Amino acid sequence: MIDTHIHIDEEAFAADSEQVIARQQEKGVTAMIVPGVNAASVETVLSVCRAHKGYCFAALGLHPEDVKEDWETQWKTIEKAIRTNREELVAIGEIGLDYYWDTTYKEQQKEVLRRQLLLARELNLPVILHNRNATEDILKILQSTICNLQSEHPLRGVFHCFNGSRETAEQILKMGFYLCIGGVITFKNCKLAETLKEIRFPETDLRNRLLLETDAPYMAPVPHRGERNESQWMIHVAERLAEVFDTTPQEICTITTQNAKQLFGI
Ligand SMILES: [Zn+2]
Repeated sequence: MIDTHIHIDEEAFAADSEQVIARQQEKGVTAMIVPGVNAASVETVLSVCRAHKGYCFAALGLHPEDVKEDWETQWKTIEKAIRTNREELVAIGEIGLDYYWDTTYKEQQKEVLRRQLLLARELNLPVILHNRNATEDILKILQSTICNLQSEHPLRGVFHCFNGSRETAEQILKMGFYLCIGGVITFKNCKLAETLKEIRFPETDLRNRLLLETDAPYMAPVPHRGERNESQWMIHVAERLAEVFDTTPQEICTITTQNAKQLFGI
């Protein structure tokens, strides 16, 4: 299993990140992708990934919730760090739009998303996208960015923590993007499993476009809901997906691991 989205550099793991990482290795988690969220996390992400080279892989980006009045200064720092450390990065993320908590900086969120998508294309890196209550805008920006780029490498990436509609999923898949599935799929009132069953995407086996993630420390799956999340518990997500696709959790783990390797080049 590869955890394609874990904030192991954050405060919640400060006291015991070494033990947490060792425990995941023992439990069959073969790699972690650690996305940054702001200028401050440039250092924390890079240092944990340097300390666990070949196991923790870094992404840097400006998260929409961190787009505030100082966004241009933050972006300058992050852009510079991305260019300087290009060879150590497997993605730009996490980036996107979030209209759930605060829409004060909606226009700035869109602007910085566009800049990050263009940089991802320029540097040939995939993007890790965060979307909350902003599906229409994020798809519009992606489509226009993809259309405006004359390049043999299409923009590629993943919608992290996907929990949208069938129509949204089909549009994302058509653009060549992946859907990342986390603990939410195990929650009692979540309709995601049913949605996945209804998706019509004849171009490929849907399983070839799925990734696993925790978003740890957040989003722990049932039966650990409310606890600090950790990567080994993705097995509960794999079990739920196995029911959806009428297969075994092991097969889901194998396929999603291949997918993660392919998207992030690890
Ligand atoms: Zn996250």
